[in-house]
Amino acid sequence: MPLQIVHHPDYDAGFAVNHRFPMSKYPLLMEALRARGLVEPDALNTAEPAPAAWLKLAHAADYVDQVINCSVPEKIEREIGFPVGPRVSLRAQLATGGTVLAARLAMRHGIACNTAGGSHHARRAQGAGFCTFNDVAVAALVLLANGAAQNILVVDLDVHQGDGTADILADDPRVFTFSMHGDRNYPVRKIASDLDVALPDGTGDAAYIEGLAAILPELSSQKRWDIIFYNAGVDVHAEDRLGRLSLSDDGLRARDETVISHFRRLGIPVCGVIGGGYSTDVPTLAARHAILFEVAAGYA
Ligand SMILES: [Zn+2]
Repeated sequence: MPLQIVHHPDYDAGFAVNHRFPMSKYPLLMEALRARGLVEPDALNTAEPAPAAWLKLAHAADYVDQVINCSVPEKIEREIGFPVGPRVSLRAQLATGGTVLAARLAMRHGIACNTAGGSHHARRAQGAGFCTFNDVAVAALVLLANGAAQNILVVDLDVHQGDGTADILADDPRVFTFSMHGDRNYPVRKIASDLDVALPDGTGDAAYIEGLAAILPELSSQKRWDIIFYNAGVDVHAEDRLGRLSLSDDGLRARDETVISHFRRLGIPVCGVIGGGYSTDVPTLAARHAILFEVAAGYA
């Protein structure tokens, strides 16, 4: 079966090419997926904006209203890293709706991926670190609210710690948050997940995969998870502008294979989101994000 992919052209909010946030990676990722023959018209799904009621399951109502009305206080915009104008507001609503849709598709088909998402620094009361809404937290709470899932696992392998997801979900007994990240990477003040593994600079492929493979059975033996959300941030890559963990392309592929094969062998649905990745060479960056879809397609 073809891999279920969720996308929207407005995931790209059209930033200047020299912006610190490489916004053009979203259309370039779709190009990369088409070039690899991974996009089947029947399995390509268009994201819809997440309604305010979904967003307010994870976020403070006044912050949700501020984003929708483009009236986010400047202090919070500075923490996010860009102003929240109409296109940024729309993309935040679309990326979140996209992760909810990908989660529902994963529960139906076993696996599905959003070509955006993984905005894990967005906390309950505000955005931060290039993240406006926390799509994974919203999607988890939507599934729980409508009874589609009772036990949810978040596997966050972006190089940055999942502080926003922890802020929203770590005290919710229905969701287990796991973050494995670079100890010296942003955020300086981390918010404790249910399980955090902090890795030293320059960890590299072998030690990374060995550590990950040792943890996954512990996670899957805790409960019968109804779905896992997998944040496959590629900022663990050696050439990433922000990351410090020194993984290679092969290491990224081995990481995605390790996670996806582990949970799919157990019959647990996997919802993949792309997470962070930073480079001025955006086509190469998009190719790094495409690895998640290449691996996921093998399990579709
Ligand atoms: Zn990151």
